[in-house]
Amino acid sequence: MKDIEIAREVTLRPIAEISEKLGIPSNTFEPYGHYKAKLPIELIDTESAKNSNLVLVSAISPTPAGEGKTTMSIGLTEGLNQLGKKTTVVLREPSLGPVFGIKGGATGGGYSQVLPMEDINLHFTGDFAAIEKAHNLLSALIDNNIQSKTNSLNLDPRTISWKRVLDMNDRSLRHVIVGLGGTASGIPRETGFDITAASEIMAILCLANDLLDLKNRLGSIFIGFTFKGDPIYARDLKAEGAMTALLKDALKPNLVQTIEGNPGIIHGGPFANIAQGTNSVIATRMGMTFSDYTVTEAGFGFDLGAEKFFDIKCQSADLSPKVVVLTATIRALKYHGGKPLSDLTQPDLDALKKGLPNLEKHVENIKQFNVEPVIAINRFNSDSEEEIAVIQEKAKELGVSVAIAEVWAKGGKGALDLAEKVVSIAEKAKGDFTPMYKWEDSIEDKIEKIATKIYGAEYVDYNAQAKKDLKKIKTLGLEHLPVCIAKTQKSLSDNPKLLGRPKDFIITVREIEIAAGAGFVIPITGNIMRMPGLPARPASEQIDIDAKGNISGLF
Ligand code: ADP
Ligand code: MG
Repeated sequence: MKDIEIAREVTLRPIAEISEKLGIPSNTFEPYGHYKAKLPIELIDTESAKNSNLVLVSAISPTPAGEGKTTMSIGLTEGLNQLGKKTTVVLREPSLGPVFGIKGGATGGGYSQVLPMEDINLHFTGDFAAIEKAHNLLSALIDNNIQSKTNSLNLDPRTISWKRVLDMNDRSLRHVIVGLGGTASGIPRETGFDITAASEIMAILCLANDLLDLKNRLGSIFIGFTFKGDPIYARDLKAEGAMTALLKDALKPNLVQTIEGNPGIIHGGPFANIAQGTNSVIATRMGMTFSDYTVTEAGFGFDLGAEKFFDIKCQSADLSPKVVVLTATIRALKYHGGKPLSDLTQPDLDALKKGLPNLEKHVENIKQFNVEPVIAINRFNSDSEEEIAVIQEKAKELGVSVAIAEVWAKGGKGALDLAEKVVSIAEKAKGDFTPMYKWEDSIEDKIEKIATKIYGAEYVDYNAQAKKDLKKIKTLGLEHLPVCIAKTQKSLSDNPKLLGRPKDFIITVREIEIAAGAGFVIPITGNIMRMPGLPARPASEQIDIDAKGNISGLF
C-alpha cells in the first residue's frame, strides 16, 4: 500500500487527546483545525527537560537508495511507547521543493508516519511562508535602501550576500537581475533565489531560545559592506522588529500525531550542509519537557547532520544526548561497496562487505563524542538473512548493539528490539557527551578537527578566497562562532564520487560564508545546491485531489 493510503486508513484522534497524553492542558495550546496545534513557548520547562533521554537518529553516508531516518525515528517512538516509555518524536518540517521533486515528503513511510501527512507536507501551519516573508522583507529593505537618497547606508551593491527565497524547486530563479525598468524601479544588480529551507532565517529560528533571542539574532544578520568597507547588519536597516513580528507564530512548535496516536512535534527545517540540519531548539526542549524519551533526527549522514547537531545545536542549547541510533540499510551498504543502484535488490555479500567500512567509520565517529551507538538495520523486503547476519557479525566485532528494525512494514511492533536496546543504553549512559571542539578554538582549528577526526582527511587546504574570508571573519570579530561545514552528503570526503570510507584525501575550503545571525560561519567545500530544480517528470504530475478533497499521489 502507498504511504498516503496507509495514512488515510487511520482514524485521527483530536489533537487535545494527544496533548493530554503529554500532560499539556488543552486550554494552553493553540489549535490549528482538529489535528494540529501550536504549542506556546512558555510551556517549556528547562529543568524537567533535563530529565528526558534525548535520542538522536542519524545514518551512514546517504545514497540515492534512501536510508529511512525519519521513518526510523517515528517507528522507534512507537516502539518506546509500546514499552511504556512516554516518548515524543521531534522532527523537521518538509519543504515543498522535494514534495514536488524526486524525494517526496518527509513524514516517514509505511506504518511509521506522522499525520495528517497531507497537511504536514503541504503548507502545514504556514511556518515556511512566514520565514519566506521575513526573509524577503529584508531583501526589499536592502534594495529600497540602495535606491534611497535620504536614508542611504551607502551599501556597496556588489558586496550584498543576502538573496531572496521561495519554497519551490525552481532552478530558473537561481540567478536573477533585479532593479530593471528605469530610475524609478531600483538600482539594477545581480542576485538570486534560494529555497526557503536554505534561508539563514530558517537556521536562526531553529537556534533561537525565545522571541527576544530571535529578534537579536535577526538583527545580527550580515548583509554586506558600505563603499568605505564598514559592515552592515540587518539592525542598521531597523529590520529585526518587523521580521520578528512576522515570525511570532512560526516560532511556536507544532503538535501532531503518529499512526499509533503518539505525539510528534514538528518544527523548522534547515539544510544539513549550509545549516544545522535539525528541527528547532524550542521543539526539542518542548518534547523533552513532557517526555521520558525524546527521539529526534539530524539530516544526511552522521558526518554532516549529526556533527552539527552535537557541535552547534547541543553546545548552543546545552543538550546532552544519551544514545545515537545509526540507521543503515543493506542496500546502501552494497552501494558503498560498488554495486550499481539498479542492482541493489539482488543479494551480494561481497559488495555488502566492501561497503561496511562506511558503517565502521560512522560508528567510530559517534564514539568520539562519547555517546553510545546502536545500529538499526532498516529492513527492506529485498534483504536476505545472510546479508543481515553480515552486519550483525560486524556489530559484534565493533562491540556495539545492533537491532533489526521493521518499522516501515510493522510500525512500533517492528521496533521493539531497537527500543529495548535504546532504553538499556540510555539507562546506563553517564551523560558525558563531549563535543568535537570548543567554540573558542580558532576557526582553522575547528575546521581541522572535524575534517581530520570525523571525515578522515589528511589535512585542510584553503584556497585564496577562503584565506581572504578568514581575515574578514577576524576583522568582524566572529572567530568565536562554531563552524557549519558545507560538504557533499554523498561521501565522507568532499568528493561525492568517493564512496565507502575514503582515505588519503584532503579537504579544500573554497570560501567561508558568514551567518552572523544564526551564529556560525560556513566553510564551503564544494558546490552546494541551494535552489534545486525539478526532475523531467516531477512528482507533482502524480498529485491530485478529488471532489471530496482527498489528496492522492503524495509520498
Ligand atoms: P530519510 O529521513 O533518511 O531521508 P525517510 O525516512 O524519509 O529517509 O525515507 C525515505 C523513503 O524511503 C520514504 O519514502 C520511505 O517511505 C522509504 N522507506 C524507508 N524505509 C523503508 C523500508 N524499510 N522499506 C521500504 N521503503 C522504506
Ligand atoms: Mg528525514
